[in-house]
Amino acid sequence: MRIYRDEDARLELLLGKRIAVIGYGNQGRAQALNLRDSGLQVLIGNPEDAYAEQARADGFTVLPIAQAAEQGDVVMLLIPDEMAPRVFREAIAPALSPGDALVFASGFNVAFGFIEPPPGVDVILVAPRMIGAGVRDLYLAGRGFPSFIGVAQDASGHARDLALALAKGIGSTRAGVVEVTFTQEAELDLFTEQCFGPAFGQVLLTAVDLLVEEGYPVEAVLLELYMSGELAYTLGKMAEMGLIEQTSLHSRTSQYGSLSRSMRFMMPELRQRMRQGLEEIRSGQFAREWAAEQAAGYPTLQALREMARQQPIYRWEQELRRAMPYTPPPVVHLMEAGPEASAPRKAPPPRWKQAVHRLRRLLAGRMEEQADTSQMRPLYSAEVPLVVQAFLARLPGNPDLCAFAQNRDLIVHYVLEEPDLEFYLRFVDGEVVADTGAPPERAHLRLQTRADILDGILTGRIPAMRAAMSGQIRLEGDTRLAMSLPAIQDRLGQIYREVRQNVLSGQM
Ligand code: NDP
Repeated sequence: MRIYRDEDARLELLLGKRIAVIGYGNQGRAQALNLRDSGLQVLIGNPEDAYAEQARADGFTVLPIAQAAEQGDVVMLLIPDEMAPRVFREAIAPALSPGDALVFASGFNVAFGFIEPPPGVDVILVAPRMIGAGVRDLYLAGRGFPSFIGVAQDASGHARDLALALAKGIGSTRAGVVEVTFTQEAELDLFTEQCFGPAFGQVLLTAVDLLVEEGYPVEAVLLELYMSGELAYTLGKMAEMGLIEQTSLHSRTSQYGSLSRSMRFMMPELRQRMRQGLEEIRSGQFAREWAAEQAAGYPTLQALREMARQQPIYRWEQELRRAMPYTPPPVVHLMEAGPEASAPRKAPPPRWKQAVHRLRRLLAGRMEEQADTSQMRPLYSAEVPLVVQAFLARLPGNPDLCAFAQNRDLIVHYVLEEPDLEFYLRFVDGEVVADTGAPPERAHLRLQTRADILDGILTGRIPAMRAAMSGQIRLEGDTRLAMSLPAIQDRLGQIYREVRQNVLSGQM
């Protein structure tokens, strides 16, 4: 096995080079911010729209795609794969000069011949095995995430080193990087999407269908199988410890039951169907079919999506989530366990010691919080919904807030970015209503800001007034009403801090 780590990569190769990130979506934004934070020179190429606005708000120079590609020595194509061939043909290919490097985050277009880069440029792959939000969050947390790198054309003679340097710049070599060909990356990715994923989905659907038919309550079936988050948690443990090793986390009954019955589900037909799927991918049949679907305006995709929504499970899931608005534990929590997770596990301390330890941590946390809120770590994106939901649940009935709500009707709508999340507070006739989503009636005040800014304000790390004055909060509505909010700001902050701490220490 060959895994490339930080010590195998030389960031210096990129110093003095201009990196043009084309596209500022999931991967584009995360990678651009990480590269800049790694000390590299980054500019963005994007059409003039909300993405461009976001990039400017993040402090980047934004140019039309052709101009950015012209200025970049390293051009990273981070737009959707189906849009890339046209954008490449029209705006990027004419702007490339010998000596430039062209970087992809997916092998698809090069592997299946939809993009043919000109000679004289390095053509490299840096493909994170992580969604964009994770690429950024894990970088900020000082951790990494795995990536695949590859070289399709080595014009400079050091294309692999350049790929490694970029992988280091986005923070990936902290975890580990594996080299593959463009074709291998594309085929593995498609196999996961077209064979592994659907086979797994069918297992789930069959189980739900059978259990509901046998009279088990739908909500119990969904929670048991996956909607409690236990399955996701187990998958996280599988990634940390391995498929076999994680079985030690389950009861002996579970271990015996699973292992003794697993042979029953060994079906030669499954393997045969997976092989057939892989053949379709390798022969280019899928790529041609998909290109024809795009050219026709996605009629089959739309029909398939519609059919998927017609399945009873779609409605059941919605009903369960309405009845039980619970966010399962985020996988990023699991990853926080970090290197210690792979260390040999010690026997747990006796219960009394655990209790003392918890109490100490709690007291230390409280004292630390009172002493200096600036030490609080920012929330991971995946933690934001958990904290917000727990916060909202604590507001109704709070005496101070109910007192504020006397003789008032005020709806405040909060619109958060990164992650996108909406919620509202309504103070009406001595009552407080708080819920996620948009308010049922038009809000008197609408506050739009990034989740980390609101978190900073409510934890006291960021002065609210300064955030509003510097444009970090966009405020719409009746500003006179906004002036009444500071009266409850302290109380809201206090509740938020308590809830936040409880959520992060796993007590909620
Ligand atoms: P996004 O859908 O998030 O990309 C959106 C960006 O692409 C926006 O800046 C958008 O700008 C721009 N864009 C979209 N259409 C066009 C167009 N026709 N012309 C010009 N710009 C356009 O993409 P992802 O970040 O999800 O994917 C980028 C690459 O990363 C892909 O190769 C993908 O396979 C790969 N990848 C993605 C992963 C993920 O988790 N999403 C994981 C690993 C790799 P605008 O709308 O303004 O045009």
